[in-house]
Amino acid sequence: MPHIAHTQYGGVRAAVASCHVERLLDDDVWARFRRLLDDPPGGFRIGALVRPPDDESGEDEARWLERARSLDVPFGLHTHWTSPSHARPTGGDPAARVRRELAWLRSHGLAPRYFSGGGWYTDDAVRQAVAEAKLVDLTATTFPLPYGGGRVVDGPEPGLLPATHTIGMLARAVGLPDYVHVYFHDTDLLERRRSLALALGLRHLALRRPVRDLDEVSSALSR
Ligand SMILES: [Zn+2]
Repeated sequence: MPHIAHTQYGGVRAAVASCHVERLLDDDVWARFRRLLDDPPGGFRIGALVRPPDDESGEDEARWLERARSLDVPFGLHTHWTSPSHARPTGGDPAARVRRELAWLRSHGLAPRYFSGGGWYTDDAVRQAVAEAKLVDLTATTFPLPYGGGRVVDGPEPGLLPATHTIGMLARAVGLPDYVHVYFHDTDLLERRRSLALALGLRHLALRRPVRDLDEVSSALSR
């Protein structure tokens, strides 16, 4: 494992990238995501935070599992509480759904190490479920969300790796913090402009910060 420099205040100087994988079952999106993982701009080992199949929407479990098992990158759960296209909860017990999805993943031989709440939703009970499952939480940002409602923190800490940049923010960034965590959605890859901005941004970022992955940064922080 490469050495990760700790900064003066116990932080890390590193850049990571992760993807909210919304449409693992969409052949076009999946092909684009797979190409990105196989030949990642800047050499990033991009974390895959994957939304499990939604049985109410009739999503194909077997194909989902086949694709999820083929992911050879840091792997995490990305819960959508309401539906494939509606991430945030509209009722029910959000923490119970997280526990159910984790149990389902594990019962199928998948070992998520990360959690990212859909629509950046989190609450005390969800955070407790994530901590009990010994997952690293990615459900926070270091910037306020345009639509509000997320959890905003100053930076990474043991057990929490917030996102610091969207694709657009990375493209516009002049200065960068020590720790940079770029997040995007697999569906961004459908848009040529966004896809190019992501590739360009990651290549440029790789020149400015040590390129690491979620596994490396989370274990460096927990030491
Ligand atoms: Zn999502």
